[in-house]
Amino acid sequence: MLDKLIGNSDAKAHLRHLMKEGRVPQSLLLAGPEGVGKKHFAIEIARARLCAEQNGEACGVCAPCERVGKFDLPTGDNADTFERVIFSEHPDVGMVIPFRRNIRINAIRDLEREANFNPFEGSGRFFVIDEAEKLNDAAANALLKTLEEPAPTTNIILVTSRPDSLLPTIRSRCQMLRFARVPNEDIEKFLVNKKEYTPDRARIAAGLSRGSVGRALSIDIEASQEQRRIMYEVLEAAAVRRDLAGVLRLSDTLSDAKHKDQFESNLEMLESLIHDIWITAASGDRRRISNIDMEDEILRITSFVTPAELAKWLEAIDDLRRSLGVNINRRMATDAMFAKFAAGGSAL
Ligand SMILES: [Zn+2]
Repeated sequence: MLDKLIGNSDAKAHLRHLMKEGRVPQSLLLAGPEGVGKKHFAIEIARARLCAEQNGEACGVCAPCERVGKFDLPTGDNADTFERVIFSEHPDVGMVIPFRRNIRINAIRDLEREANFNPFEGSGRFFVIDEAEKLNDAAANALLKTLEEPAPTTNIILVTSRPDSLLPTIRSRCQMLRFARVPNEDIEKFLVNKKEYTPDRARIAAGLSRGSVGRALSIDIEASQEQRRIMYEVLEAAAVRRDLAGVLRLSDTLSDAKHKDQFESNLEMLESLIHDIWITAASGDRRRISNIDMEDEILRITSFVTPAELAKWLEAIDDLRRSLGVNINRRMATDAMFAKFAAGGSAL
């Protein structure tokens, strides 16, 4: 069943080994970027133990395997529904998820209670805490007690994209398993083979995914077209015409209220286009372009910028993304970055 999950072959091999030996730690921390399948891995760990076949890995088709992954998770505004462990159709597999920005302390108290019970059906109980970085100090301290003395049949799996935000005392009580971004080629294949994407759409979505299967699946390619078009215009004004005024006009439209929500995705699209131009300029291989519906446009820009300059543009986007966490003046930062693009040469 681990085969169904794409990428992260090191983490997979490690888990397989632990499952086979029956040595999966009782407290695990699955850490890595968003959308790479960490929660699916957590479910697979539970499935492997509760599977009726007991061959190390889960068979995926027996009744326990089926039920382990079926959750009816709450959505919406009723905080009360987030104050408890939410069980799957299997009574030994539960999950705690945050309500807005926090995991409710009552959900952790409920987990503490549940963690004391013997399994109802299988040979172990599994509790997944999703977005564990959203444990505030009170909830984390409540969890700590459970992590210190779990019942011998209880397993707790924390899932997070920000392990550094967890209390060190929590981290030190869990064995950490690190996950990485999934390579674009793997995402592309997955979209074509499992999700019935056409090869073109799969290529574009993978190019915009930043290594996250979740993000690739959530991209609306048709709706992204206009945004990618505007990003292309920015690059054309900067690289071909070296037109500072034009670039700043476009920067204005990006930072205005109407486009505020799209800022992050605009950056991703800009990055994906620059990456395409860079890879084509550096390798001369147009088959490696992800935005294949814009192949002609990308090739047009290629002759106006050097790979070295493009690499600096990609770095500048990374810097901008990092500074957004602390620097609230997004518009000035964006203007400054685009102005450097347009100035060319050694400006960066
Ligand atoms: Zn099974």
